[in-house]
Amino acid sequence: MKLKNKIFFYSTFVFVILIVVLSVTIYYTFVNITYDRELERVESNAKSIHSGIREETDEYSAIDLMSFYVPNDGMLRVVNQDGQFMTSSIISGDVPNSLRKFNVGFERGRQSSILTHSGISYGFVQFPMIWTNGEVVYLQVFESLKTVDDNLDILRLVLMLVTAIALIPVFISGKLLSDLIIRPIQSLIQTMNDIKRSQTFKHIPLNKQSNDELFTMGQTFNELMDLLKENYEKQEAFVSNASHELRTPLTVIESYASLVKRRGLERPEVVKESIDAIHTEAVRMKDLTEQLLLLARRDQDWKLELSNIQLGQLLENIAKNMERAYNSKVDVDYPHSVTLYTDEQKLKQLIYIFVDNACKYSDVPVLIKLSEGPTIEIIDQGIGIPKDSIDQVFDRFYRVDEARNRDQGGTGLGLALAKELAESLSIKIDLDSEENKGTRVILRLNSLSSH
Ligand code: ADP
Repeated sequence: MKLKNKIFFYSTFVFVILIVVLSVTIYYTFVNITYDRELERVESNAKSIHSGIREETDEYSAIDLMSFYVPNDGMLRVVNQDGQFMTSSIISGDVPNSLRKFNVGFERGRQSSILTHSGISYGFVQFPMIWTNGEVVYLQVFESLKTVDDNLDILRLVLMLVTAIALIPVFISGKLLSDLIIRPIQSLIQTMNDIKRSQTFKHIPLNKQSNDELFTMGQTFNELMDLLKENYEKQEAFVSNASHELRTPLTVIESYASLVKRRGLERPEVVKESIDAIHTEAVRMKDLTEQLLLLARRDQDWKLELSNIQLGQLLENIAKNMERAYNSKVDVDYPHSVTLYTDEQKLKQLIYIFVDNACKYSDVPVLIKLSEGPTIEIIDQGIGIPKDSIDQVFDRFYRVDEARNRDQGGTGLGLALAKELAESLSIKIDLDSEENKGTRVILRLNSLSSH
């Protein structure tokens, strides 16, 4: 069953049941109260008949008295101890003749109940009395409740009519409710189908006035679409950048390889130059693919291995390795060492990226400074970064100026990777740089908890 029909069916069903139960309860409560009252009235009438007959026996015959007391729409009759009618003593008012012989299921003693005969209700009361011949008999009083029955029929009719009329708004509101809930969902499904068909990211048109859950659902869906679109575009840009970056070294390798193929045997000096170039490009490609892999694995494989590490020692090692690689001076300045609980390899990788950049983009010595906080500063006095590029240097494949950086053989992925590493280690990076003056990177470190 469709959701729309379910909502309509359940909401209407509950209301229909409620209204019907209410009407039936009202009707039967009223019937009971009315019949109880009528029976009380018949009982009190019967009592006065009984006492009237008992007191007046000297002057009138019992039968005369009964004729005098018989209700207009009722009957009086006397039965003996075995429940047999004493025919002469049946006195009836305006009631069908068949009532005279109506068997009430005789029991000795006092009785009172509501009986139905030929579709008409009667208030019935029986009580014992001494008959004129001294025998114990039972006086039975019947009083027609036809007017009450008629009134109750009218009440039943009115209640049925009211129930039927009350169901009309219930049906209408059920339909409106299901439409109200279903319309945005249908629009959502429609948009999803459109997206599937056209393979584009679309928004659901939203009604700004409402601020309900369905509006929030639509809004969340639109936000999700934006996020997916943004990620999709990023991925697309990443793949096209990556393939573009890989094409350059591959073209260089291809052209040098063909050169060696064509002229290698005749001109041995070409071979040396080509092999050098091919080697350099191969190393660059290796670095690039390693960084790409690291970035692609972000979130999935980056599990932190935490331990207590001595920052002073760590910085000394990094400086020594960089000095060897770049053949330039890297100073470390720390008043006293600081211990930090973090992932040593990842922190090392992060610092290497900044020190590597500092060495690449400056000729004078680079300084690594450890201070309280703890913070690590990597300071160079190199070419610096122009102001309007500072925000972009952390983007993947961004390089300030292709021409000025080509010689350094960077990939443009270093700082993007550094940003991801810093996030995973809860490190805040501040970059302060001025063109032709130098760059200062401040890493604000935090101890990580093992949970
Ligand atoms: P790359 O591999 O090109 O160095 P990065 O992501 O590490 O890529 O850096 C992005 C760009 O930011 C670099 O290409 C360079 O232009 C600039 N840059 C980064 N660090 C420095 C620095 N210390 N001095 C000057 N420019 C820098």
